[in-house]
Amino acid sequence: MKKLTSFPRRILCAILSVVFVFLLSACRDAVPTGGDLSADGGGVGRDTGTVSTPPDTSDAPVTDAQTDAPDTTVPETDPPATEPPVTGPTYPSFSDDGVLTICLDAGHGFGDVGTDSAFLGDKSEKDITLPIVLKLKDKLEALGFTVILTHDGQTFPKSAIDNGDNLFNPKERISYAHTLNIDYFLSIHCDSYEADSSVKGTRVYYSMGTPYESDSSTAAVKITKGINDALPNAKKTVIRNMEFDSAYYVIRMAHVPSALIEIGFVTNQTDAENMLSEDWQNTFADGIANGLNDYFT
Ligand SMILES: [Zn+2]
Repeated sequence: MKKLTSFPRRILCAILSVVFVFLLSACRDAVPTGGDLSADGGGVGRDTGTVSTPPDTSDAPVTDAQTDAPDTTVPETDPPATEPPVTGPTYPSFSDDGVLTICLDAGHGFGDVGTDSAFLGDKSEKDITLPIVLKLKDKLEALGFTVILTHDGQTFPKSAIDNGDNLFNPKERISYAHTLNIDYFLSIHCDSYEADSSVKGTRVYYSMGTPYESDSSTAAVKITKGINDALPNAKKTVIRNMEFDSAYYVIRMAHVPSALIEIGFVTNQTDAENMLSEDWQNTFADGIANGLNDYFT
């Protein structure tokens, strides 16, 4: 019995030994050592490389903080930039000669016919502004004013800037006016608005931001009242105060209180017919003359 029992025990021990060696070998493969990791570093590195490599931020949106970051290339020790001195236009001044003198500027003329429309036939703006200015001159002189015209429709002063194009542009007109000891400057024009032929009426423009703004405003009110009183049945004349930078050149550069009157719209049939009418021109000029007389007295 002992022999019988001892034999399987030796076999069992041998089996257990084989199993133990097998398990030891299997455990050695299943639990890698540090040496195994090092040896397989390339593979591990590829897998984890996307984590360890800094992300490409070249396409990342630029944050406000970055765009608002101060420009550090400017040394802080630089002196602060100084604003260039504000230099407005220079206006000539004259001593008061005791004579009330008004300069009248008939818009356009010579090589510049101004605006026109079918309602004016073969006439244009220049054929309205000059006749009204000539009538106004007579009326103002009758009231005791001295009147100087920038031009008479035949010639214009050659002492002014003259670029030879025969247009007598606004800069040339003001260049001439600046040589005159005058008390008021008035430019006469016609308006146009092709988009809507129903637009009509007189507009009196003056420039804000000049040394003469307050007086120009007061005079514009007087002239407007004079026109409305002279033409009680017409559409009421309106005043337009213009920002200096966008104001018509002649009214922001005049060296005295000034206005530019757009008599009416050549694109409106009623306005056009009125502006071509001698009677209407006389009445309209009466209104301006009375307004200026009211302003100066
Ligand atoms: Zn004009």
